[in-house]
Amino acid sequence: MPGPKTHDIFYKNLKGKLNSRTLDSFPNYDKYNIFVQGHDFLIYYDFYNSKVRDANINLSVELQEHRFQEFVYNYLKTAKESGSLELEDVRLFIGPGYVMHHLLDAYAHPQIIYYSGDHTRNPKTKIWNHGVVENLLDIYMMETFEGCDAKSYRVYKDFKIDEDLISNELIKTIDDSLEDTYEIAGGGPIFKKAFKQLAFYMRLMKYDNWGLKTQFFDKVLGPFAKCSKAFSYHRDYDEVLPYLNLNHEEWVNPTDASIVSRESFIDLYLKALEDGAYIVDELEKICQSGVINKDDIYSLIPNISSVHGLECEREVKILNKKKW
Ligand SMILES: [Zn+2]
Repeated sequence: MPGPKTHDIFYKNLKGKLNSRTLDSFPNYDKYNIFVQGHDFLIYYDFYNSKVRDANINLSVELQEHRFQEFVYNYLKTAKESGSLELEDVRLFIGPGYVMHHLLDAYAHPQIIYYSGDHTRNPKTKIWNHGVVENLLDIYMMETFEGCDAKSYRVYKDFKIDEDLISNELIKTIDDSLEDTYEIAGGGPIFKKAFKQLAFYMRLMKYDNWGLKTQFFDKVLGPFAKCSKAFSYHRDYDEVLPYLNLNHEEWVNPTDASIVSRESFIDLYLKALEDGAYIVDELEKICQSGVINKDDIYSLIPNISSVHGLECEREVKILNKKKW
């Protein structure tokens, strides 16, 4: 991740950047906004079951750091061979959905991780700083782009999808390409169930009109929910300011100090939007041509990890973190 709402707004902003040819072939674009949650669906699947969740977090890490190009290619090849590439949901899932999730992660994560660490919790305090920062960024994005008060906005309404919109061919394509690329069995049904569970996750974990989750998570529930700051949207807007880098201070890639930047969070977001629109337009052009060629896909889709933004398969070692 960034958080679910940041990805959701990205999908909506992306629409305004796509060319008319792409938009013409996606008449139902708006109905499929949840697809942009990408590999995070693994985390939303049966999220209340800690055993399942821990296992799926490991799978998600696999998808984040390894064989990204290969997965996209296998997905398109499988869909082409079965004839399902003709279906709108099958194409929306991969380009505007899965690939865009990964791209925004890859662009924004180096900064988020530099500021807050990776996806693991502090073993002593159980505080999940990374989640805390991404939660604040969600609130910032909602207020900036949608003008809504994150504390009271009924955010779960944005994460519902009509079951009839999900084709069996989509689930089969996800299933086959996860198996071909990562040897993950049963991935299709996991995604299918998680599509439905996402709105429930948002309602239970994020929406917090009265600020009660802050009390409940931290005091009553166990270590999973502990640290409500990573979940509840009932947070003060100002808390996000230190993480936006609006002053353009220098920061470095957490895995490689020679990669230096002064970009702000919003700079990175807008860059991902620009590059992402090009990729989605080109990918849709390829799909429309009906010829799925490995070289074409590999030259369009960067083989980057969504964790550090650098080449997949590279070891992830967090060496550099901001000292606050
Ligand atoms: Zn993240």
